[in-house]
Amino acid sequence: MEKCTEKGIPGVKYSANEKIFNTEFNITFFQRKKDQCSLCTRFANSTDAEKSTLKDKYENHLQEKDLSRAAKKQDVAYSTDDTHNSTVACYDLQAVMPLPSGEVSHCFYKSKLNMINFTIFDVGSKTGFCYT
Ligand SMILES: [Zn+2]
Repeated sequence: MEKCTEKGIPGVKYSANEKIFNTEFNITFFQRKKDQCSLCTRFANSTDAEKSTLKDKYENHLQEKDLSRAAKKQDVAYSTDDTHNSTVACYDLQAVMPLPSGEVSHCFYKSKLNMINFTIFDVGSKTGFCYT
C-alpha cells in the first residue's frame, strides 16, 4: 500500500490479495497455528448436548477473553503515552525445535539437541527480542 501510494497508483488491502490468491491461483497464505486452550477445544469437539451443559462456562470464558484483550489494549495505550514511564511486553515460548531438522529419517534418530525460542515483543517500540 505504501509503495502504491508513493507511486500514485491505487492499491488493495491484504484481504483483497488473499481473496485473489486463494480463488484465482493455486496459492495460499500460510496459516499460523493458534494455540487453543483446553476449554475452547473441549467445546468445539462436544456434541450438542454437551455444548448446552458447557454453554454458560464457555460464554463466561469468551467474555473473559474479550475483557483480557480490552485490558491489553488499554495498557498499550497507557504505555505508548509519553507521560508514563511504562512498557507493555508480550512474550511467547515457541514449540521445541529438534535439531538437526530434515525430512530424511535418520535426522529423526540423530536428533540430540532441542532448541527453544523465547520471544519478547515490546509493543510500544515494536521491538522483538529472541532468546534461543
Ligand atoms: Zn479458550
